[in-house]
Amino acid sequence: MEKIDSADSFIFIRAIQQKDLHRFTIEWSDGMISEYRLCDLQRMCCCAECRDEKTGRMRIAPSSVADDLQALRIVSVGTYALQIFFSQGCSKGIYSFKLLRSKW
Ligand SMILES: [Zn+2]
Repeated sequence: MEKIDSADSFIFIRAIQQKDLHRFTIEWSDGMISEYRLCDLQRMCCCAECRDEKTGRMRIAPSSVADDLQALRIVSVGTYALQIFFSQGCSKGIYSFKLLRSKW
């Protein structure tokens, strides 16, 4: 089994499961299971509108994202990231597996 923290390790998603309207879990190829709240993910949206590319600072206030945010659709982007289409707010962010693994 390769180590996750090495930059060139290859990790992918085995399964995505919706827990309830506001949360889902990812089962990783190494067996680890991570749980995410949709609102937490939108609060760290990494698109150019939500995050200043130079400073990395968020332009959206965390309080502007509803706690009961839902996902309409979660799609994979290549073999390295997910894009989440939220029920409201910004859906432009690409959530790389690396980012998803590092946050939880
Ligand atoms: Zn965004």
